Amino acid sequence: MNWLLVGASNVAHEWIVPAIRAIGDEVISIVSGHLERAQDFAHRHDISNFSTDLNQALSHEEIDAVYISSTNSLHFEQAIAALKAKKHVMCEKPMALSITDAKEMIFQAEVNQVVLGVNYHLRNSAVIKKMRELIVSDAIGDVLTIRFCHAVSLPEKLQSWRINTPAEGGVVLDITVHDIDTLRFLLDDEPISVSAMAQTGLISPNNIPETVMGTIAFAKGTLVSFYDSFTVQYFQTSIDVIGTKGTLLARNTLTQHAVGELQLNNIHGTQTIDIKNENLYVSSLQKFKNATQNRGQPAATAYDGLRSLEVSLAIQQAIINKTNVLAVTGE
Ligand code: NDP
Repeated sequence: MNWLLVGASNVAHEWIVPAIRAIGDEVISIVSGHLERAQDFAHRHDISNFSTDLNQALSHEEIDAVYISSTNSLHFEQAIAALKAKKHVMCEKPMALSITDAKEMIFQAEVNQVVLGVNYHLRNSAVIKKMRELIVSDAIGDVLTIRFCHAVSLPEKLQSWRINTPAEGGVVLDITVHDIDTLRFLLDDEPISVSAMAQTGLISPNNIPETVMGTIAFAKGTLVSFYDSFTVQYFQTSIDVIGTKGTLLARNTLTQHAVGELQLNNIHGTQTIDIKNENLYVSSLQKFKNATQNRGQPAATAYDGLRSLEVSLAIQQAIINKTNVLAVTGE
């Protein structure tokens, strides 16, 4: 397929351009809000076309798919333009900033008969896929609780809109949104209520949540506690899944890199699970490409994007309401 990139972003630079090429596709065009950045990106990645005019770029017949990694507030309008131009769209998370907009994106994908995926790369982690497999195979019984720790140090090069722009920044729309999607994937279940409190002021000049702690209750009864942060150094990410017959302990797996370890503890003892880690973004794009050829679904569908956004917005509301528990409708 021939791809158009929307957004001269870090994630496109580090991960997506190499992943598109790894699945045998081509990046033929980039659109940025600034011509010099578009030109610089095109030059660095050997991309033939660059521009600031999205509609003009979309008018080129040879473009099959669009990858959107602009800042969060632009995803909606750019995705709508691409979907209306009948291009398949892989959109970065969060897919939009409101439920109404996310639903409109889903509607436009349906009407124009194209695939809309959301890039929740963690669904492609070998550790997380193995955890889901072990849960499904009853290795730890029914899942009672999960302790989810996604606390990291936000690199200085990413400390721009994430900590400066209230509408689209903050740890919830950046990190917690991944937790929710990963939890839905692991449990094959839907969140029904949330509570949360946040911390701010260490790196954010704008009172934007940089650390959040909270709980999520799932429909089948699993209770989750989560701890997400931009400001934690010398630590490691982890997922502890506690079941009625055992536990699964994942370490260092909530990352962009193909790494992580997994331990299973049950009546058979303690076992370090053999994991064959593979590039998460390559898997994500390959699944998306397969979906455009009527072979399955993207790793995370537009509906998955809608659900994780909805729960993230509920968590943001819970922070504002000072821990009030909100029902998450799931409609
Ligand atoms: P960046 O800050 O690198 O890029 C976002 C936008 O900021 C770019 O599109 C660009 O706008 C602008 N920009 C980039 N560099 C500069 C600069 N030096 N000066 C001024 N503006 C600049 O963001 P990320 O790559 O970290 O994130 C982009 C999107 O991808 C977000 O939606 C994020 O949530 C998502 N993401 C997803 C990940 C995943 O694993 N699924 C991982 C990381 C991010 P323009 O296009 O106008 O040039």
